Amino acid sequence: MNSGMIGKIDKAHRYAQEPERMRVTGFNATFHGSHDEYTVSLDDRGWHCSCHTFAAHVLESCSHVMAAQLMLGPMLSEDARFATSDTAVPA
Ligand SMILES: [Zn+2]
Repeated sequence: MNSGMIGKIDKAHRYAQEPERMRVTGFNATFHGSHDEYTVSLDDRGWHCSCHTFAAHVLESCSHVMAAQLMLGPMLSEDARFATSDTAVPA
């Protein structure tokens, strides 16, 4: 492996310790919940989850979206980090 590539790999490892460098502007995942599997997503309209709690709009969020917000924390914009289903998330 050439020294240029080794330098890039070193840099990647340093960057990986600094998640705030990366901004997640779109996201799609399956979430293995306690009872079922759900689809959690983030796009320019905000967060969405396929679970019943989210669809009911009672809490304006759900444990799956909140968990994703916690996991992605520093990689999300301020809006996306705290947004609920009714809050648009500017890219
Ligand atoms: Zn959910």
